[in-house]
Amino acid sequence: MEKIAQGVLRFRNYIYPHMRGMFGQLSEGQEPHALMIACSDSRVVPNLITDTRPGELFVERNPGNIAPVYSTQRMGAASASIEYAVGVLHVPNIIVCGHSDCGVMKGILSPKAVRKLTAVRRWLDFGPSPDEVDGIEDPAERLETLTELNVLMQIENLKTHPSVAAKWKKKQIGLHGWVFDIESGQVRAWDEKQGKFLPWPPEAGSKGTKDR
Ligand SMILES: [Zn+2]
Repeated sequence: MEKIAQGVLRFRNYIYPHMRGMFGQLSEGQEPHALMIACSDSRVVPNLITDTRPGELFVERNPGNIAPVYSTQRMGAASASIEYAVGVLHVPNIIVCGHSDCGVMKGILSPKAVRKLTAVRRWLDFGPSPDEVDGIEDPAERLETLTELNVLMQIENLKTHPSVAAKWKKKQIGLHGWVFDIESGQVRAWDEKQGKFLPWPPEAGSKGTKDR
């Protein structure tokens, strides 16, 4: 814990003093631009890759950036995050952010590797089936395609949540699918019109569908 303890001290003594005003304002409440559902992976840091500050993103992180299908029988933290972000904070956007080299996606492709991980296996029920990429021979392409399919699947799952569905129908919320590439630092986003993931944003300074 030594490295972390040193970091806490550096934050308090050197970083926080420059952000005191911002934290003062935030102590009254938050109005984030988006709910980001990202993987728990330590290499995917939502505020870093979007260059946003405290208060700007409401983040749900779990293995595989999953938005479980809504169910009154099987509620979990991810569903509570979605309900709170949409119903209480009224976030205008939800971003599902997958990433390269995702251990969870690899787990879907190699069920044997997660055979003894009961909780992980059950959680993977919310992800796509490996059968969907069966026909792809190249392992890297298979993983990338599964990662993209998973993001799209989670966007569909989001629409099963009553809080999201109501706003989605009225076009009051944007649903965005991303894949972050760890090596290049690039974000690719699902382009509905072209039916594929494309580098995003397309040019410097372009904006998302809704601003806040
Ligand atoms: Zn991951």
